[in-house]
Amino acid sequence: MHCPRRREFLSSLGAFALLPTARTEAERVLYNGNILTMDPSQPRAQAVAISDGRFLAVGRDADVLNLATARVAKTDLGGQTVVPGFIDAHTHPAGAGYQHLKQVDCALDSISRIQEALRSRAARTPPGDWVLGFKYDDTKTAEGRLLTREDLDAVSMAHPVLVGHRGGHTVYVNSLALQKAGVTERTPDPEGGRFYRDPASGRLTGRAAETATDAFEKAIPNALSRDERREGVKLIGAMMARTGLTSVTDAGGSPEDLQAYQDARDAGQLPVRVYCHIRAPYLDAMLGAGVRTGFGDEWVRVGAVKMVCDGSISERTARLAQPYVGRPDDRGILVTPEPVLYETLKKAHEADWQLGVHANGDEAIDVVLRIYERLQRERPRRDPRFRLEHCTMITDGLVERIKALGAIPTPFSTYVYWHGEKMKEYGAERLDRMFALRSFLDAGIRATQASDYPPGPFEPMMALQSEVTRTDSRGNVWGPRQKVTVEEALRVGTINGAYASFEERLKGTIEAGKLADFTVLGRDPLREPASSLIGIPIERTMTGGRWVFEA
Ligand SMILES: [Zn+2]
Repeated sequence: MHCPRRREFLSSLGAFALLPTARTEAERVLYNGNILTMDPSQPRAQAVAISDGRFLAVGRDADVLNLATARVAKTDLGGQTVVPGFIDAHTHPAGAGYQHLKQVDCALDSISRIQEALRSRAARTPPGDWVLGFKYDDTKTAEGRLLTREDLDAVSMAHPVLVGHRGGHTVYVNSLALQKAGVTERTPDPEGGRFYRDPASGRLTGRAAETATDAFEKAIPNALSRDERREGVKLIGAMMARTGLTSVTDAGGSPEDLQAYQDARDAGQLPVRVYCHIRAPYLDAMLGAGVRTGFGDEWVRVGAVKMVCDGSISERTARLAQPYVGRPDDRGILVTPEPVLYETLKKAHEADWQLGVHANGDEAIDVVLRIYERLQRERPRRDPRFRLEHCTMITDGLVERIKALGAIPTPFSTYVYWHGEKMKEYGAERLDRMFALRSFLDAGIRATQASDYPPGPFEPMMALQSEVTRTDSRGNVWGPRQKVTVEEALRVGTINGAYASFEERLKGTIEAGKLADFTVLGRDPLREPASSLIGIPIERTMTGGRWVFEA
C-alpha cells in the first residue's frame, strides 16, 4: 500500500522511530547446549532464540528449533556450557584502558626488569616529559623491598618518572618528579595522605600515598585526546570480553570517561556494557545537567556517585579497627573525613542518586554505614541500593546493618588467589571475615563479583576459583570459612551484578526478554574440580546478540 504521508512522518522522526518494531521472528538460534540460565524458574536449557539483541525464547531444543525458519542462523553448541555474561561490579576500565595505551606495564617480577622497561620507554621519550608506569606490585618483585627514589633516578635523571602501585593508592617517583610537583623535604603531609620519608634522615623516599599523590597528578599534563580515550576504552573492552565479561561498572568515572564510552559505543567498539559511577568532584556538574543514576541506555549508563573512605587492601593502607600484624601503631588511613562524606552524599541522596563509597577496613565500613543509616532516617528512600565498594573486612554487627539497609557489598573476587602473599599482614582471624561472600550470602545480602582492575585481575574464572577454594596461587588457604559453591559464585557473578545496577530485569540471567549477553565455556564449571576452574577456556562471548569475542 502506497502511503507517502506516513513515510514522510516516519522519516522526520529519523532512524530511531523505525527500530522498535515488534519482531517475533528469531534471527539466530543456538541449540544443543548445556545452558546454565541462573533463572530459578528454569535453571537448565538446551537452546536459545535471539531477536533484536534479546532472548526471544529459552528452552528445550525441540521447542526453540521450532521457531527457526530457513533464514535463521543456527549454531550447534556441541554440548558446550553457556552461562549469562559475567558482570564485574567494580572495576576501572577507562582508566586502565588509557594506561594500557600510554604507560609502561610494570607487572614484572623484579625491580631490575621494571627499571629496564622504564628505561626503554625513557629512551623513546623527549627529555623533560613524564615516563609513567602502572601495575607495579611490591610483593611480586624478587628484591623483596619497595621501589625507591634512587631506583627511579637510575632509570632517568632527565625525565620525571612515576610508577603507580597496582593497588592504585600509592605512587613511586624519582627526584625530577618530586621537583616538578614542587614537593620537598619541607612539604607537610596533606590531610588523608603521606609523603614517605627515611626515618633517620627525613629524606623523601619517593613513595606517596592517597591524597599526597594529587601533587603529582596535577603536575602531569593530561595529554590524551578524545580519540585516544575512545581507543583506550576499545582496547580494555576487548580484553574484558575475551574473558567472558559482558557488563562492567566503572567505579570512578569522569565526564570524559562517560564521553569515551559513548564514543566507543557509537563507533561499534564497545563490547561490554558500562555502568559508570561518577566521582564526587563532578557531582555538581551532573546535578546541574539534571542527570542522575540510571540515565543512559543499555550500553552506557550513569551509575552511583563515588566517594572514598579509606585506603587499600593490596597496599595495606585500609582503615582497620585493630592494627596490622607486625605494625602495632598502624591502623591504616581514613582518606575522607566523615563530615565531608556526609555532606556530599546527602546532596546526592536527596537528588535520588545511588551512593557508592569505597570502604575496605571494618572501621571504614562502620563510618559509611553510619552515614547511610543517617541519610535513610533523614530522608527515607524506598530502594536506594546503597553500595559499599569493596566492603572487605566485616564483623557480625556490620553484616546485620548491611542487611537491614539492603546495601550491596562489592568484595574483591580475585584477591585471595592473586594477592595471597599480602594476606599475612591481616592475620588468619581477620581473613575469616574478609571478602566475606559466605557471610553475605548466608545473611541474604546480594554481594557481587568485582575485580577493581587494575588492582585485581578481572578474569571471571579466576574469581570463581578464588571464591570457591579461598586458596592462593601457591596453595595457601586464606579464610576458609568464607568458601562458597560454584553455583553461588556464578550467581554472584551474574544476576547479583545486574541487581547492583538496578538492571536485574534487563540482564544477569538467560531468560526470554532479557538482553542476549552470554558466554560459551570450554568446560562446565559445575563439573570441574575447584582447583582447575581458572583453566576453563572462554570459547565465545556474545553481547546484545553480537559475538564480541570468538576464540
Ligand atoms: Zn576501585
